Amino acid sequence: RAKSAGGNRYEMADEEADARAITRHGLTTALPAALERGEFFIEYQPLVHLGDGSVSGAEALVRWSHPQHGVLGPDRFIQLAERTGLIVPLGRWVLEESVRQACRWQERNAGDTTVPLRINVNLSPCQLTHPGLVSDTVEILERAGLAPAALCLEVTESALIGADDDLLKPLRRLAEMGVDIALDDFGTGYSNLANLRRLPVSVLKLDRSFTQGMQQFPADPVDLKIVEGIVSLAHSLDLAVTVEGVETGVQAEQLRELGCDTAQGWYYARPGPPDRLHDLALADATS
Ligand code: C2E
Ligand code: MG
Ligand code: MG
Ligand code: MG
Repeated sequence: RAKSAGGNRYEMADEEADARAITRHGLTTALPAALERGEFFIEYQPLVHLGDGSVSGAEALVRWSHPQHGVLGPDRFIQLAERTGLIVPLGRWVLEESVRQACRWQERNAGDTTVPLRINVNLSPCQLTHPGLVSDTVEILERAGLAPAALCLEVTESALIGADDDLLKPLRRLAEMGVDIALDDFGTGYSNLANLRRLPVSVLKLDRSFTQGMQQFPADPVDLKIVEGIVSLAHSLDLAVTVEGVETGVQAEQLRELGCDTAQGWYYARPGPPDRLHDLALADATS
């Protein structure tokens, strides 16, 4: 009995795998038209200064409003877009759209005391090796009239592992212009800490896996030590530290005590439409 039940489970697993493969194939072929039809949209998640809780900016997170499957998160389609090369035009669209959005926030803020909101945009490794990265970015910033210092490009640590000078050159040029480069998901790759000095990054984004150990009280003492060590290393290299995945007030308080600079997570806000972010920023400017 157990065996036949097991057999059924395997059959089910196979069917599920087939269904997933079919969906993947369908999504892949639908990607180019989706971009043309404007099915992608961006949600913004605030980044918050841990010191005083004020909003410092937001990360742009792309979603796909699929006519049959509903709203799909990036984990469902970014890899497919990378494999087909569509990530280059898609990534350019995300950059352009979120830079324009950052300008709108700044314009609406002109009359009040809110600090200018900065915008974080994720870059895929394929965009790094694409020759148009620097010129596209310059053009997008100029056309929108956004200062380069208001933009932060997030690159994952794994994309830069073993990066040679050719790969780093465009990032260096952008950094020289004043664009911030953040090392995303830091701590999940094979971090070569000595390598950090070579990279044109100004922000470390500590991966959610580190903050998870702080959800319970008391927090895992080893996690605390590791975060403390990373923060002191980062600060000694003049890097700011952002933490991802902050879900509770206990975590936020501990991360503040450990000296982290900014935080992002459900505790503050889930990713949402652009107007909500503006309201959050205004609320803490006037409170
Ligand atoms: P990421 O850059 O590390 O973004 C953070 C992810 O963590 C987001 O997932 C966000 O919704 C989620 N998150 C934020 N706060 C919390 C929290 O408190 N708890 C938990 N459990 N999760 C939290 P999302 O939106 O599904 O994006 C996943 C990944 O997709 C991103 O990870 C990023 O690598 C990639 N991605 C998103 N937008 C783009 C894009 O425009 N271009 C590229 N190349 N990649 C993108
Ligand atoms: Mg990111
Ligand atoms: Mg991240
Ligand atoms: Mg992450």
